[in-house]
Amino acid sequence: MSELRQIAIYGKGGIGKSTTTQNLTAGLCEHGKKVMVVGCDPKADSTRLLLGGLAQKTVLDTIREEGEDIELDRIMKEGFGGTKCVESGGPEPGVGCAGRGIITSINLLENLGAYTDDLDYVFYDVLGDVVCGGFAMPIREGKAKEIYIVASGEMMALYAANNISKGIQRYARTGGVRLGGIICNSRNVDGELVLLRAFAKELGTKLLYFVPRDNVVQHAEIHKQTVIEYKPDSKQADEYRNLAQAVIENEDFVIPKPMTQERLEEILMEFGMMELADDYKI
Ligand code: ADP
Ligand code: MG
Repeated sequence: MSELRQIAIYGKGGIGKSTTTQNLTAGLCEHGKKVMVVGCDPKADSTRLLLGGLAQKTVLDTIREEGEDIELDRIMKEGFGGTKCVESGGPEPGVGCAGRGIITSINLLENLGAYTDDLDYVFYDVLGDVVCGGFAMPIREGKAKEIYIVASGEMMALYAANNISKGIQRYARTGGVRLGGIICNSRNVDGELVLLRAFAKELGTKLLYFVPRDNVVQHAEIHKQTVIEYKPDSKQADEYRNLAQAVIENEDFVIPKPMTQERLEEILMEFGMMELADDYKI
C-alpha cells in the first residue's frame, strides 16, 4: 500500500486555493486515489464543490452544539468520487483565534479514527498570507509534510507566497515539512509564466504547474461542482488532471529560501513587465 501523503495548500486569500484543491482532488479521484479534504478556513467553503453545496456543518459548530462525544459521520461527509470532506470552521466572528478550529478539528479527526489506512492523500486547505498561530498547525505539528503554495503573477500573491515560505523555512528546521512547489493559478498577468518560474527558482523550488484562467471555473462554481464534474471534456478539466498527475509524480521537496523584499521587487521588474514573444505564450 502506498504511504499517506498529507499536503497543505497555502496562499493569499482569494488566489484560488479552494478551487484548485478541489479540482486537483477530483483529478486524483479519477486516478483511483482515496482523498480527504480538511478545510482550514473559517469561511468553510473548502469542500463546497465536492459536496454540491455548503452541505456540511463545521467541526467547531458541531462541537458547540453537540459536544465532542459525536460520531465521525457528523463532521465528515462523502463528496464527489468518494472524497471525504471536513470543514474546521472558526470561532464566532471577533472571538478568539481563527486558527483554533484547525487544531480542534485535527485532534478530533484523529480521535474519531478519520485517518484510515485506505487513504492516499489528505489535503489541508489553509487560509492566510502568513503562516502563524493556528494556521501553522498542520505543518508545525508535522501533520502535513508537503506544501504547495498557490500564487499568480500579481505582486501581492507573490509577496504572500514569499512570506509563507518564511514560515515553512522556520518549521522545516525543526520538523520534516518541505515545499513541493508553486502552483500558478493564472490571473493573465503579463509575463506570468516566466515570472513564476523565476520566482520559484529563486525560492529554491519549482513551478509545479501553471493553471490557466478560464471562465468555465465560474460556471462550474455556480453549479456547485468542480470543473472535472461539470465539464469533464473541457480543456480546463484536463489542466486539473495534469495538475493531479504532477502532484502524483512530484519528488522534489525542499526547504525554501525566502527572498528579501528588494529581491522580490527586482524579479518583478525583470520579468513581470515582459511582453512575451509568441513562442513563450501558452
Ligand atoms: P481561496 O480559496 O484562495 O480564497 P477560491 O478558490 O475561493 O480562493 O477562488 C476565488 C475565486 O477565483 C473563485 O470565485 C473562483 O471561481 C475563482 N477562480 C479560481 N481559480 C480560477 C481559474 N483558474 N479561472 C477562473 N477563475 C478562477
Ligand atoms: Mg478558500
